[in-house]
Amino acid sequence: MTANNYTDTRGLTSEAVPFTHAVVKGIAEGGGLFVPERIPQLELDSILSLAGMTYAQRAAYIYKAFQVNLSDEEIDALMAQAYGNNFDDERICPITTLDNGTHIMELWHGPTSAFKDMALQCLPLFFSASAQHLRDEGLIDYEFLILVATSGDTGKAALEGFANKRGVSIGVLYPDGGVSDIQRKQMATQAGDNVCVWAVRGNFDDCQTGAKAVFNDASFAETLMDTHKLALSSANSINWGRLLPQIVYYVSAYSELVAAGQVEAGAAIDVCVPTGNFGNILAAWYAKQMGTPIERLLCASNENRVLTDFINTGTYDISDRDFVLTPSPSMDILVSSNLERQLFELTGRDADAIRGWMDDLSRNKCFRVDAGTFAKLRGDFVSDSVNSAECLQTIRSCFEENGYLMDPHTAVAYEVAQRLKGENPVLVASTAHWAKFGDNVYRALHGLEPGAALPEDVAALTGCELNRRIESETNAGPIPEGLAKLDSIPMRFTEVIDKETHAIEDAVLQFC
Ligand SMILES: *Cc1c(COP(=O)(O)O)cnc(C)c1O
Repeated sequence: MTANNYTDTRGLTSEAVPFTHAVVKGIAEGGGLFVPERIPQLELDSILSLAGMTYAQRAAYIYKAFQVNLSDEEIDALMAQAYGNNFDDERICPITTLDNGTHIMELWHGPTSAFKDMALQCLPLFFSASAQHLRDEGLIDYEFLILVATSGDTGKAALEGFANKRGVSIGVLYPDGGVSDIQRKQMATQAGDNVCVWAVRGNFDDCQTGAKAVFNDASFAETLMDTHKLALSSANSINWGRLLPQIVYYVSAYSELVAAGQVEAGAAIDVCVPTGNFGNILAAWYAKQMGTPIERLLCASNENRVLTDFINTGTYDISDRDFVLTPSPSMDILVSSNLERQLFELTGRDADAIRGWMDDLSRNKCFRVDAGTFAKLRGDFVSDSVNSAECLQTIRSCFEENGYLMDPHTAVAYEVAQRLKGENPVLVASTAHWAKFGDNVYRALHGLEPGAALPEDVAALTGCELNRRIESETNAGPIPEGLAKLDSIPMRFTEVIDKETHAIEDAVLQFC
């Protein structure tokens, strides 16, 4: 069989590239996203057989099905490293079935307690191995510097993933004063020789704009290359190397539900995903495409409900939409970049249509899909949104009814799952441990409104202390070790820098 190479969603790459190139490049020429030429098809028996394997073996099985251009032995070895005792549960992402029958897939057992670990414990290993192969083949003679702007979760997961990987270093920018006490300490205490973290005087938008300006500064790129033999790269969620690991857990979860007697072999399930950049739910769509018996994809939004409106109307419109801060910050997003891949697939891979819609979006902040594509979209997806007050009420009521404490992102999906539930069992993707968002979990449990001030004695607690208080009130422990210990680890990174491009570039050069 010929290799499964990668083309792009806008039809602008001159030549299809193998997996290793797609991972290291991140984004295709012309701004499109990489997609594999073929989506492998799995028989039901193959899917069910995953239940007899370790999670690392399941992941290797899926990578081999996609014909990733590394040897089977190398894939096996990298997966054993990606999904081993760096997770606090040997099942990696165990499924908890609540009293009301909802299945919760816990994607937060990795080192940073957020679902980003599922991809970012894996991608850096494949990135580093891919770059090494390119150097061995004489195609490149340089190393990589990953630059990440973060509003919280991604930065820590990327730092943890890239720490001490060969041939690559990582710098993270976060808004000074704009992340929680827990998130700041998670980043500022990061270990590793090849990592650096900067607080930026500004908001998340300033960090993102700054990082983009650095990426687009050709003369800075030249300096980095000439003086340090370094190329900039990014690890954001449009990298195919982040998407592929996410497909694994949907196929894996189905095999487990059948093995546990929760679902009959071959019977359909629905999947409900708290959605921001559309990566996680797109992975579920690919799992369905590969033959996993998934019927409906339930797309859960918070008050930033651009995706819900899109799925219900076929029009993606951000021309008159305010960005709302909610208790589920990782879903606070207006432009869902992975939607481009989804539309590419739903149009039967029509790159011309995608170029047109993406053009409309950047010109008019709005695009409308044709009737055929809209019908396809409706064939796979349904969607609803949950406002911030409903989100906190859901945390409380689910805890009272099922004794299960959820984080605000998971709560949005849980509530949408209850509203849109049909005949099929529902698998809810749980994307963070509650202790990452202790302040809003406290508000939820104590009946406070979103954004309400915490009582003075509670507001004075560190994030770790607040989590211990919640744990003692609810018995919803244990708190993951990486979060529980944060107050006792010395801070390594305390530098605050200006948001101007030259200030960021100076900081990067000092780090190199
Ligand atoms: C990133 C993130 C999401 C959103 O996932 P997408 O793949 O961007 O749709 C949801 N919840 C949490 C906790 C996250 O960190």
